[in-house]
Amino acid sequence: MEELREIVREVWGYDEFRPLQAEAIDAVINHRDSVVVLPTGGGKSLCFQAPALSMPGTAVVVSPLIALMHDQVDALVEAGVAAAYVNSTLTPDERRRAAEDVRSGRTKLLYLSPERLTTDRTLDFLQTVQPSFFAIDEAHCISEWGHDFRPEYRMLGMLKERFPDTAVHAYTATATARVRQDIVRELHLRDPVIHVGSFDRPNLVYRAERRAGKFEQVRAVVERHPDESGVVYCMRRADVEETCAALVELGHSALPYHAGLPDDVRRRNQDAFIKDRCKIMVATVAFGMGIDKSNVRYVVHAAAPKSLEAYQQESGRAGRDGLEAECCLFYSGADFQTWRKFQEELPPEAAGAAAALLDGMERYATGLTCRHRSLVEYFGQSLPGDNCQACDVCLEEVELADDSLKTAQKIISCVARLRESYGGDYTAQVLVGSREQRILEKGHDKLSTFGLLEAHDKRQVRDWIEQLVGQGYLVKGGEYGVLQITAEGREVLGGGVEPRLAKPTARSGRGERTTRKKTAKAAEQSWEGVDRGLFDALRTWRRAKADERGLPPFIIFGDAVLRDLARYRPSAADGLLHIRGMGQKKGREYGEELLALIVGYCREEGKSTDVEA
Ligand code: ADP
Repeated sequence: MEELREIVREVWGYDEFRPLQAEAIDAVINHRDSVVVLPTGGGKSLCFQAPALSMPGTAVVVSPLIALMHDQVDALVEAGVAAAYVNSTLTPDERRRAAEDVRSGRTKLLYLSPERLTTDRTLDFLQTVQPSFFAIDEAHCISEWGHDFRPEYRMLGMLKERFPDTAVHAYTATATARVRQDIVRELHLRDPVIHVGSFDRPNLVYRAERRAGKFEQVRAVVERHPDESGVVYCMRRADVEETCAALVELGHSALPYHAGLPDDVRRRNQDAFIKDRCKIMVATVAFGMGIDKSNVRYVVHAAAPKSLEAYQQESGRAGRDGLEAECCLFYSGADFQTWRKFQEELPPEAAGAAAALLDGMERYATGLTCRHRSLVEYFGQSLPGDNCQACDVCLEEVELADDSLKTAQKIISCVARLRESYGGDYTAQVLVGSREQRILEKGHDKLSTFGLLEAHDKRQVRDWIEQLVGQGYLVKGGEYGVLQITAEGREVLGGGVEPRLAKPTARSGRGERTTRKKTAKAAEQSWEGVDRGLFDALRTWRRAKADERGLPPFIIFGDAVLRDLARYRPSAADGLLHIRGMGQKKGREYGEELLALIVGYCREEGKSTDVEA
C-alpha cells in the first residue's frame, strides 16, 4: 500500500485517497474480485489505474464508449502512464503495434470495448499474456435494472471461464442493490468484496423550482455562470432547438445536441463543448453518457425527468472535479402529465414501476425537505447533520407561506373528511371548491372543508399536499396514492407542530426566486483565497495549451488544480509539488511556463506569491 501511495503522489499528485479508494485498491492488489460503487466524481478510475502500475503485466479495462476510452487514455498518457486502447479508430498497423506493446509488458492499461474483448481472437491473445486483472467500468450496463443496459456487457460473464485465476473488478455509480446483485451474478464474481460509498455529492447545490415562463429561469442560471461550462437538459428536441436559439440570441455560446441531429453534427457539437470552445450544451438526455468532462459548473433541467435515478445521473455530470457546481430543476405539472401519457403505452408491469419512479421524482421536485437528504434517502442511505448548506431549502431560498399552519390544517382536515380514501388530485379539487361531476355525485361539495382554499389554484394546493407528504404529515398509500394522515399530521390539527409550506410562486417574471441570502458552503470553500484574475489567466493558458495539443482542457489540468495555483501562487518548482493534482510529468512539462505566468501576474498586480497553505 505504501508503494501505491507513492505512485499516486508521483503520477497524479494526490497526497490522500478519497473515501474507499484505499479499500478498493487493496482488493485489486490482493487479487480479490470486487464491486465498487462510488458516486460520479468519487474517483473510481484511480482504484484500478493506480494498482495496474504496481502489478506485473497489463490490466484490461472494459469501457462502453469510444469517447470515454479516448479521454481516459489521453489523461493517462498526459500523466506519463503507458496506456492504450484498441478500437475501430485504429489502423491495422496501429493495432499490431498496440498488441506488441501489450506482449512486451510495456502497456500497463489496455482499454477495450466489451464486444472486442469477447471475440475469440482477443481472448486467445490475452491468454498468451495473462492480464494482471480485468476492470469493468460502468458495470451497471450489465443489468436491465440499471439505466443503461447494454446486452454486449452480458458477454463478459465468460471472462471467469476463460481466466479463472484472474480477478475481475466492477465499478459503477449506480446505487441500487438490485444492480449490484446483477453485476455479481452476471460476471460470476467469486466471493467479491463489495464497497459502497456515500451517494451524497456535497459539492453540488441542488435547487428545484416550479417553472415560471419558458426561459427566464434557465437564463438566470446561465447568467450566474458567465464563461463557465454548463448543460441544459430539455424534454424534447424542439425545446432543445428553441432554448439553444434563445441563448445564442442573447450572445451566449451554446450548441444543441439531440438524436435528431446528423451524427457528424452531434459529434462536432459535443467535441466543441468538451474542448471548451462552446460553453453551453443544450440537449436531450441523448447527451451525457461517457462524458467525463470534469469542469461542468451547472446542470439545468428545463423540465422534470422521469425518475430520480435519471435526475441523479444527469445532474451528477456537474462538478466531477469536486468543486462547487449547481443543479437546478425547473418542473411543471405538465411534465409529469406528459410522462404519465407515455406510461400508458407501456405494458402493465413496466407501467407500474415507471409510475412509482415518476412519483419519486414528483415528490422530490415539489417537496420542501433538504434535497441532499431526499436524494440519499431515496437511494437507501442517510445524511448526517440537519442542514446541508447546499440546497435551496437549507439555504432558505424558498420563501415560506405566511399562514403555513392554517393552510396545512385545512388540507389535513379535508383528508380526514374524505375518510382518508382519496388521492392528492381529488383532495385538491375539493379544497379549491371544484364543481366537477364526480365531486357533486359523491356529495363532497357538502363537506365543511369544500372550497376552503378557493383563493388558490389547484396546482398550488397540489404542491402543498406534496410538501406535507414530503415532510411526513401525510402518506400516500396503495396503488392510487390515497392520502392518509400520520401521527405527526394529527399533531398539526391541534397546532402542536407547524409544517413548512412554500409561498405561492408567481407564474411569470424574471424567474429568480428570492434574493440569495446565503452562499453554499462548497462555493465559499472552493474559492477561498483564490485570485480570480490569476485563475482566469491560467484558464486562458490552459485553453491555448489544449488547442495546441488537440486535447480537452480538463485533461491538461482540472479546475481544482488551477484554483490551487491561483490560491497558493507558487514562484518556484518546489512550490508546485504542493499543488494537489500536479503529478511529476506535468510538473516537468508545464512547470516553467506556469511559474513564469504566476510570477509575472503577481508582479504586475502587486500580489504576493508563495501563500502558505
Ligand atoms: P468517477 O469515475 O468515479 O466519476 P473519476 O475517476 O473521473 O471519478 O475522478 C473524478 C475526479 O477526481 C478526477 O478529476 C480525478 O482526478 C479526481 N480524483 C480522484 N482521486 C482523487 C484523490 N485521491 N484526490 C484528489 N482528486 C482525486
